[in-house]
Amino acid sequence: MSRDTLVSFDGVVKRFGSFVAVQKLDFEIRKGEFLAIMGSSGCGKTTTLRMLAGLEAPTEGVIKLSGKPINDLPTWSRDTPMVWQSLALFPFLNVRENVEFALKMRGVGKAERRRRAEQWLDRMQIAEFAERNISQLSGGQRQRVALARSLVVEPEILLLDEPLSALDAALKVRMQSVLKNLQRETGITFVYVTHSQSEAFSMADRVVIMSRGVIEQIGTPQEIYRTPGTRFVAEFLGSSNIFQGRLVPGDGGGAALDTPLGRFETGADATARLGTTATMTVLDTKTHLAAARPAHARNVLPVRMIGEEFVGATATIYLEAAGGQEIRVQKGHDELSDIPLEIGRELFVYWEPGDAHVISEA
Ligand code: ATP
Repeated sequence: MSRDTLVSFDGVVKRFGSFVAVQKLDFEIRKGEFLAIMGSSGCGKTTTLRMLAGLEAPTEGVIKLSGKPINDLPTWSRDTPMVWQSLALFPFLNVRENVEFALKMRGVGKAERRRRAEQWLDRMQIAEFAERNISQLSGGQRQRVALARSLVVEPEILLLDEPLSALDAALKVRMQSVLKNLQRETGITFVYVTHSQSEAFSMADRVVIMSRGVIEQIGTPQEIYRTPGTRFVAEFLGSSNIFQGRLVPGDGGGAALDTPLGRFETGADATARLGTTATMTVLDTKTHLAAARPAHARNVLPVRMIGEEFVGATATIYLEAAGGQEIRVQKGHDELSDIPLEIGRELFVYWEPGDAHVISEA
């Protein structure tokens, strides 16, 4: 355990009857980080958070908080204060009373309660609504009240389970920056469960990607995006073109991948794995498009255009290689101005060996 470890999961398993919700978790949460736990529906995110909160007990393994096992310790009897952020505000209390509530339960005196609540009302820019009923607030304002109510008790850890899922797209984006700034300023450890890649990647310092009760990868958003650790992660993120083949010696010292679509140089040092099957990913933003076969490119693949999609200034071009494999290219409009984008048109995709990532799993 390193000095900045706040929470550790050691061999944690959770079964409901014979159903295994979480298979074996081994990971750490660092003091002061924004950690997002991400994965598709049913992969065990909420169960993981609930075990940390003391709402479920692990079937096997140990969860430690500040070095002490907490498996069977209810939240209120732990030394490290932890709050589960809930959007369920009390409808019979006004905004100020909602924010003061947890302090009142902890026996904080009236004047001190007032002072601390005022601070958070100001900070969350909801002071002008202090006397309003909860039913008179917009979704975004409610979110701010819920955050103020959680943070007024100055927890060391804040647990958030899909807090933005009910908000519209524009508000979601605004709240993401509110949350991120708040976390940075307070230094409180945020553990944030979401199935949204944009939420996880825009806010978190590190992201845990889960699938079927196991951790597929933990890393910074950039590490995970650029170098997915497993094929599952690459497919889940959907940002890369994925090729499978056999590793063979390449031309330039690195390994090449022999695939049914051709042989592609990777630049990866895979000496120990030559002869084995491997998966290679190339980000769709690093995959280039040309009207004629590019003479100097080392990795070229003939394709046929099958579709296009424009979102703002970015275009995604869908292509098909021999055998039906779909290839995607993502570019700014200007970068595509010389290319005849017509459905059915024969084109070429190419990429640099250095932009091909060989997944490290066997
Ligand atoms: P979602 O994104 O849909 O909320 P999740 O990743 O948070 O999913 P969990 O809520 O952790 O998933 O559930 C993991 C698995 O465990 C699911 O298959 C779920 O049905 C199951 N599960 C969760 N709680 C229980 C329970 N109390 N009894 C039985 N099975 C449960």
